[in-house]
Amino acid sequence: MPGTGAKATCEIEVRTDPLTGETTRINRARQGRPRQQEAVTVPKIAKDCPFCPENLESSTPTFPPDFCGSERIRAGRAVAFPNMYPLSSLHGVVAFTPEHKLEINRYSPEELADGITASAAFMRAASENGYPFHFLGWNHLSQAGASVLHPHFQVIAGRSPVRSLRESLDSCRLYRARESRCFWDDLLESEVGSPRFVGKTKGFFWIAPWAPKGTCEVIGILERDCSSLLEIERDFALGLADGISRILRGYWEMGIRSVTMGIFSLPPGHGEGTFRLHARIMGRSRRIGCDRAFLELYGWEVGLTEFPEEYAAALRGFF
Ligand SMILES: [Zn+2]
Repeated sequence: MPGTGAKATCEIEVRTDPLTGETTRINRARQGRPRQQEAVTVPKIAKDCPFCPENLESSTPTFPPDFCGSERIRAGRAVAFPNMYPLSSLHGVVAFTPEHKLEINRYSPEELADGITASAAFMRAASENGYPFHFLGWNHLSQAGASVLHPHFQVIAGRSPVRSLRESLDSCRLYRARESRCFWDDLLESEVGSPRFVGKTKGFFWIAPWAPKGTCEVIGILERDCSSLLEIERDFALGLADGISRILRGYWEMGIRSVTMGIFSLPPGHGEGTFRLHARIMGRSRRIGCDRAFLELYGWEVGLTEFPEEYAAALRGFF
């Protein structure tokens, strides 16, 4: 220890993802690292938000006339429109609530479900226009990479899947070839009821992964064998949204203000029963300004301070 010459011990647990083999390093003692800057705060309401209802029509682009039959896609109170600064030739934005509210404990299952439904409608239109692969993501607050803070999902559509989806599918197929079983069936069998089990909503199981990829990460896994967000009905979309809403409320209680989410969906029937629709959500940079550093960016591993068994127990109280 500094100043005493005494030997310090430190426990580091190295965990391997059971599907992909990716590495996560967990060291609880790093929670006590000195912080030389303020923790994350929720910003005050900004003026002239382009996604607030009074500005949305004048400040966001519209879909071409032959894309989906309307200028924008609406589902409940959610509205989807093209991204003005796209990362692919079809890149949608979904403002899932008209309310400019930034506190993650205030998102209801209904408004999140509207956002999921509008996203699915965008995906369906993209498929019909020759872009069958989609990736739905959510960055909430600037710590998570959001430029506009008004709550919104994004959907990237392409002729091929993003790399994580492609590699996940490859790993699922390899697992089937090796074990003659579906990875997701085995995962649910071993994890539902385990110390990493968080809860159940309509159609979805929520589990803290053995080797999380980020702060307090949770995976929501569809219980039935289905690969696509395009195949689930409204009550299952509500079940997905309900789980997300509960986790967000749990995160809030744990001091998390900023999140990143991805929904892993492949075209209907893709993967021959090896792949399962799932969502992954994690907290962002609770104690320091940024949680992606050299280990994540150049080491391709993840360094964490919380064990999934512990935060799963805390989140279970919200289910
Ligand atoms: Zn706004």
